[in-house]
Amino acid sequence: MKSVYTLQDLQNWREVADDMDPPIQLGVFGDPVAHSLSPQIQNAALKHAKIDVQYAGFQIRPDELREALQLAREQRFSGLNLTIPHKIAAVDLMDSLDEPAKKIGAVNTVRITSGAFEGFNTDGEGFGRAIRDNFAIDLRDLRVLVLGAGGAARAIAFHCAWERCERLVIVNRDLKRAKRLVEELRPDFIGPRVLGPVARLEAVPWDEGAIRFQLANLDLIVNATPLGLQPRDPSPIAARALAPHLMVFDTVYGMGKTALVRAAEEAGARVADGRLMLLHQGAAAFEIWFDRPAPLAAMRDTLK
Ligand code: NDP
Repeated sequence: MKSVYTLQDLQNWREVADDMDPPIQLGVFGDPVAHSLSPQIQNAALKHAKIDVQYAGFQIRPDELREALQLAREQRFSGLNLTIPHKIAAVDLMDSLDEPAKKIGAVNTVRITSGAFEGFNTDGEGFGRAIRDNFAIDLRDLRVLVLGAGGAARAIAFHCAWERCERLVIVNRDLKRAKRLVEELRPDFIGPRVLGPVARLEAVPWDEGAIRFQLANLDLIVNATPLGLQPRDPSPIAARALAPHLMVFDTVYGMGKTALVRAAEEAGARVADGRLMLLHQGAAAFEIWFDRPAPLAAMRDTLK
């Protein structure tokens, strides 16, 4: 099996993959995709579950997405994951969408049944499971601050809202975007819960003073921006502003610890990185494709 396939490979799939045993019927489309850990996580799951198919990475450019999806359907693929930059564009290419994909406006998991594309979004579910796994706590007991208002932040924020989290604060560089997201979330925060003097739902500017002001009324900080992907990226929140009572979840993961993870450790806060979210959104995708529990321990082993 190649480490990464292309659209050209899909166009010549019979020649490229005819002798593949087990056959490739699942994959992730992305650009870039070479760094993705999904093939190793899903192949470990498939092997453990004794399902005779393989999962591969596909380098697909934005202008190739429509054709790549059609080809995957013709080649009888049963499911796909979509990553940067395809999650939003895929929404219009699906035959149906689940509720999270519809609300978030992004698809990260596709099930292909009888030739129809069903779009799902498992990022929020993966986040919720990662929080429970690492911190042994449910979101409904937490006051959460999310950094970012893009695709990942939307999935996380809606999931927090649907899990009835105690409080949700959205911080974004572009404050207008944070405010728009807060307005979309507002219907999920209308209810009897009262939290004292602070608002249950609010948008806050990307400003150290404004963020510090929030910290006394928070339990969990989530970075859902790409800050941390580059080794020289600064921490979105300085260690001096963090405190031991906080939990910190960085959706970013890479070769080493991100500056936010280091800052949280320095402050004595509990911390986890994005590999755990990747693991659990992958487990949720496996469950959608195969309608059975994912072999989580086997999948987790590949990340060690
Ligand atoms: P988007 O491009 O949709 O959104 C990016 C967000 O980050 C925007 O809110 C943007 O703010 C903000 N941002 C970008 N650069 C900076 C910066 N330098 N400083 C401050 N804010 C910044 O990306 P996604 O939401 O799809 O992905 C964000 C990150 O989430 C990814 O890089 C990835 O690492 C992580 N992720 C992890 C997953 C996992 O399973 N672990 C799954 C999905 C994503 P503005 O609106 O002001 O431009």
